[in-house]
Amino acid sequence: MKKYQDLWDNILEELSKNYSEDIFNEIFGETKSVIKYTNGLVYVLVPSVYIQTKINYTYSQKIKNIVDSLIDEPIKFKFVTAEEAVTPQNKYVETKVTKKVYDSYLNENYNFESFVVGESNRFSIRSAMMVAEQPGQFANPLYIFGGVGLGKTHLMQAIGNYVIEKDINKKVLYIQAQNFIVDYSKATQSGNMESFEQKYNELDVLLVDDIQMLEIGKKSQQEFFKLFCDMHDSGKQIVITSDCPADQLKGIMDRLTSRFSWGMTVNISQPNLEHRVNILKRKLIESPDANKDIDDEIYEYIANQYINNIRELEGAFRRVLYYGVMLNQDITLPLVKEALEPLLKNRKKDGTEDKFENLKSIIASFYQISVEDLISKKRTNNLIVPRHICMYLLKKKYDLPYKKIGNLLGNRDHSTVMSGYKKIEQDLKTNKEIKLAIDTISKKIE
Ligand code: ADP
Ligand code: MG
Repeated sequence: MKKYQDLWDNILEELSKNYSEDIFNEIFGETKSVIKYTNGLVYVLVPSVYIQTKINYTYSQKIKNIVDSLIDEPIKFKFVTAEEAVTPQNKYVETKVTKKVYDSYLNENYNFESFVVGESNRFSIRSAMMVAEQPGQFANPLYIFGGVGLGKTHLMQAIGNYVIEKDINKKVLYIQAQNFIVDYSKATQSGNMESFEQKYNELDVLLVDDIQMLEIGKKSQQEFFKLFCDMHDSGKQIVITSDCPADQLKGIMDRLTSRFSWGMTVNISQPNLEHRVNILKRKLIESPDANKDIDDEIYEYIANQYINNIRELEGAFRRVLYYGVMLNQDITLPLVKEALEPLLKNRKKDGTEDKFENLKSIIASFYQISVEDLISKKRTNNLIVPRHICMYLLKKKYDLPYKKIGNLLGNRDHSTVMSGYKKIEQDLKTNKEIKLAIDTISKKIE
């Protein structure tokens, strides 16, 4: 990604303002190339161990401050020597030091360690680990299917993260099927098929999430078919997730779906109570600020409210933990009930709330965000578009009054909802990605 080279260039510029020309040239004069990006780490090539040590001990805090002042992403820089870059057992960088930077689009928190095993996913995780251990050899493709919020994306990304962890030279790409369509149509429109093909042809592992979305792109299906066959023939690993078994996929060419069962198909089903409780216990470990003293009775109460969607279970639990921290109180049953009341109350009422719940979780899962964040007051960029889409669809599909939509979406003002609605209405005319998102989400609602 050129983005990271640009970022480093900007940092260098800032650094040059802070130090004398001599010092700057000595330390950073030959420290110019970003050679890789993965999982939040940007790798910069340094000319010697001496410079590497110097930067790590003397300049890293300064660099961190500059990074923080420039961007919001939690990015870290790692400085590697050419030796480290070419030593095969070293897990830092590619064998050949080129100026290429590589982004796998993986979330590093989605790994095997953080994936809690139970009856419903035991077989799937074992297969996934075998695939991660021997990409292209154990089962190709690995086809993972199951309901919304049950851990398909997590498991798929765990494979990718494992492969890279073991061998940084491996090229892994995670992509949602709908983004494959976007990628492909951008390439055809700009006449830049070559770089599209190159991007996919050089992969060792391709992770395609929510393959059912390919339904809406007929041409992309053909392109994907070609890619699939090429990768399969040359022993490159493909992992696919879907909301149903391959033979039940609708609107996807038979010759493609039939190939999906060439490798191995695994299913993730609903977790039982014990499993759900274990997941919550695990999530507690991952929440550094939370009060760690929680009774089993409380875990069970929460787990009993959320039976078929781990994303929602997790969201509810985070809300409870947040409540405890905010109020500085122990996590007792009354506190849990109070914290969850707005969520649970909404579920019980008339059809509107059901539809709303459904729409929220579809949008959240489409954009890989939590339902909590979707309706929260946070204003980060990745939340604003999904939120506007939510407003737009509630109006468009169910023709709810703006005021009601505002209430459903975390008590927002009707004028906010109205402008969100209008924004999407405008964007739909020009922005293909938004259109595709709306089409896909609409399909899922029906
Ligand atoms: P899906 O892709 O099936 O809709 P995700 O992989 O996005 O579901 O999972 C939803 C959320 O639930 C994620 O935050 C994920 O980390 C969590 N999750 C799902 N299954 C597990 C599990 N077995 N252990 C821990 N967390 C899980
Ligand atoms: Mg998913």
